Amino acid sequence: MTGKRHDFYLLTPGPLTVAPEVKREMLADRSPNAAPHSALTQEIRDYILEICNGRESHVCVPLQGSATYGIEAGLHTLVPMDSKILIIENGFYGKRLSEIAEGSGFAVVRLELPMLPLPNEADIERALEADGAITHVLLCHAETGTGVLNPIAMVAEVAKRHGKKLMIDAVASFGGFAIDARALDAEAIFISPNKCLESVPGVALVVVKKSSLEAAEKRSRSMVLDLHAQWKFMETSGAWRWTPPTHVIAALHKACERHRKEGREARLARYTANWRRLVDGLRQRGLQTLLPDEVAAPIIATFLDPKHPNYSFPAFYAAMEKRDVIIFPGRLTAAGTFRVGTMGDLTADDMSFVLAAIIDSLAEIGVDMAGVAA
Ligand SMILES: *Cc1c(COP(=O)(O)O)cnc(C)c1O
Repeated sequence: MTGKRHDFYLLTPGPLTVAPEVKREMLADRSPNAAPHSALTQEIRDYILEICNGRESHVCVPLQGSATYGIEAGLHTLVPMDSKILIIENGFYGKRLSEIAEGSGFAVVRLELPMLPLPNEADIERALEADGAITHVLLCHAETGTGVLNPIAMVAEVAKRHGKKLMIDAVASFGGFAIDARALDAEAIFISPNKCLESVPGVALVVVKKSSLEAAEKRSRSMVLDLHAQWKFMETSGAWRWTPPTHVIAALHKACERHRKEGREARLARYTANWRRLVDGLRQRGLQTLLPDEVAAPIIATFLDPKHPNYSFPAFYAAMEKRDVIIFPGRLTAAGTFRVGTMGDLTADDMSFVLAAIIDSLAEIGVDMAGVAA
């Protein structure tokens, strides 16, 4: 088929389709304690701060594990146990943040909001005024459960006005969307290498306000989920506490190089073009998106299941898998949908291939596209 540049399309909202150049870096064995590996780590940390304007005010701490490990470590390290965290929930990952915080024993206030309209100033103000014990505000930026892009600048402003510390799950958005750690005065920003940074999974990255990290010595009740200890160890020895994911770090270093070369804005423009091709193509055939375009983060497109008696997600998934394309079911917070990631090493040509695969797959399972208007 035309436009098939990759053998396999991983269109889940992370991990995702990665450039061969990035994967090739993982073919070498590297010593975790030798200078070349320390240099890779240091350059990644510098680059992450550079792209979020955090060089003066923040530090970047990498931690073994997936992004969620970074979130839990951030809470243990930065949030004193007598604190209270306001968590804004308007989707699956917002709820996940509450589960992490409650599971770690923190006092939590869940601000449960509908998927839409977007959280507004009054919602957050009301929640903060209702409970003076709240010390921190935590929310998800790109809510990949639905595709909603939450207004972090507004939340940062309200939090600051009330003297609360802001933590952001920017796991899905970092590297694609503009995030200014300094302007947001963020206490912590949680980042994944395997979303808009287009690398492989295996490490969490956390951008932490330097003054807060300095004050966090021995606060974490966890031995391994301790960003202060990891940071101090790295600063003094250049090495990681425990065995680092050396192959993952080498891949991420290459991915950062590629990110610098492309530029964040160009990367977001490429994702937006991917998203447009897919959304326009499927709308023309009668499918509908879960979200209006204005609130959608163009890194993932969520479609309502076709209303056709022959449609089932497992059958659709299997037909897509045969065509080397992996898609994702809807999350519980958005049942009756399927999701297609548009980030990764993808161009609009790739999306044309994917679009054709979707149309063929639906035909194969007997979903006639003429009458599927969802
Ligand atoms: C992917 C994702 C996570 C979880 O990341 P893991 O690497 O699986 O731990 C958290 N939040 C958001 C918004 C995500 O998209």
